[in-house]
Amino acid sequence: MPGPVYLDHNATSPVDMRVIDAMANALRDNFGNAASRHEIGARAEAAVQDARRSVAALINAQPDDVFFTSGATESNNLVLFGAAARRADRTSLVTSEIEHPSILETAEALATEGVIIRRVPPDTAGRVEAERVASLVDGRTFLVTLVLANNEIGTINPVEKCAVEVHAHGALLHSDATQAVGHIPVDVESLGVDLLSFSAHKLYGPKGVGAIYAHRKARQRVAPQILGGGHERGFRSGTLNVPAIIGFGVAADIARREMADAEHRVAALRNLLLSLLQESAGEVLLNGSLKNRLPGNLNVSFPGIDAEALVVRLKHAVAFSTGAACSSAKVEPSHILMALYGDDDRAFSSVRFGVGRGNTEEEMRMVSEAVSREVSVLRSLSKPHHL
Ligand code: PMP
Repeated sequence: MPGPVYLDHNATSPVDMRVIDAMANALRDNFGNAASRHEIGARAEAAVQDARRSVAALINAQPDDVFFTSGATESNNLVLFGAAARRADRTSLVTSEIEHPSILETAEALATEGVIIRRVPPDTAGRVEAERVASLVDGRTFLVTLVLANNEIGTINPVEKCAVEVHAHGALLHSDATQAVGHIPVDVESLGVDLLSFSAHKLYGPKGVGAIYAHRKARQRVAPQILGGGHERGFRSGTLNVPAIIGFGVAADIARREMADAEHRVAALRNLLLSLLQESAGEVLLNGSLKNRLPGNLNVSFPGIDAEALVVRLKHAVAFSTGAACSSAKVEPSHILMALYGDDDRAFSSVRFGVGRGNTEEEMRMVSEAVSREVSVLRSLSKPHHL
C-alpha cells in the first residue's frame, strides 16, 4: 500500500517483519498464562524468560533486573511515584527541562504532594550538563532522573557523568532511555544508572510493552505501583502480555545484531536530508547540535512558516511532525524548544523528521523536494502584499 514516506520514527517505528512472524506464532501457539503451573503456562513462561534475556542483553543488564511493563510511560511513573513513596525524609527530585511529559507531569503531581522539583535547563546545544545536575543534588535528594536521548531534538545527555555525584549523596539515578535503546549502544553498567525505562515500539517492536531495568538494591527503594497477583516478582502485577513480550525480545535481538550497521546508514540518510534541505529550502535552522545526537533525528526550523501548516499540506506525501505538542484545543509551543531558545516563532516553525532503518536515499530526495516546494509556497503566502 503506497502511502506517505514514513519519517516519524521518534513517535513510533513500524514493526519488523521478523517480530510480526514471532508474534503471530505466539498468538496462535503460545497462548498460555505465564503464571499457570501446567505445561501450557510453562511454555509461555519459558518464552518470556527468553525475551527477558534478549532485552537484558541489549542494555548489558542481568535478566533478573529487567521487568516488563506496558511501556515507558508506565516505567517512568513507577520510578517517580515508587521512589517518592519510599523517600523517607528526603525531599527533592532533580530532573531536566527537556524530559518527556511522562516524567514532567509525574514530577508535577509529586510537587503537589510536597516534593521539591529541581529542573536543569539545557545548554545551547540542547544537552543537560552533568555539572549543573550535580550542583542541584544534595543529601535531601532521593532521585535524579535524566532523559538519555531527547524525543524531539535527539540530543544525548551525559548521564554517565552524573552517576558518581548522585550516588555520593545517596540518591538513585534513573534515565528515560526510550529513544536511545536499540538505536545507540546503551549499557547500564557504564551509564552507572540504578533504573532505566524503555519501550518496544521505538525499536521496531510492538506497542503497549516496555521495560524497567531496576537493580536489586534500587528495587528496595521503589514501591510497586500496580498491585495484584505478584507477577514480575511483585514489582509489577498483571498478567503478562506474552506475544508482545516475545516480539520485544525478537526486536531486541535484531537491534543488538544490526545496530552498528543501521546507526551509520540512518545517520547518513539524516545528514543527506539536512544538506538537501539546506540547499533547496532557503533559510533552515538546526535545532540542537548534530554532535551527540540520535542518528535518525533531525529537528529544524523554517523561519517564517507555520510548521503545522507544512505538516498538513504534506500529509499525503510525508509523515512527520511538528515540534509542538497539541493539548486538546490549545496548541502549545514545544517545551523543549522553548527551554532551548525561548522563542515561540522558532518553536512554531519547527518540524521533526525521524529517519529509520527502512528509509532510502531516494526517499530523502523526494522528501526534500516536496518540503522545499511547500516551504516556499508558505513563505510567499505569509509575505505582506504591497498593492
Ligand atoms: N519517554 C520518551 C523519551 C519517549 O519518547 C516516549 C514515547 N514518545 C515515552 C517516554 C513514552 O513511551 P510509551 O509510548 O512506551 O509509553
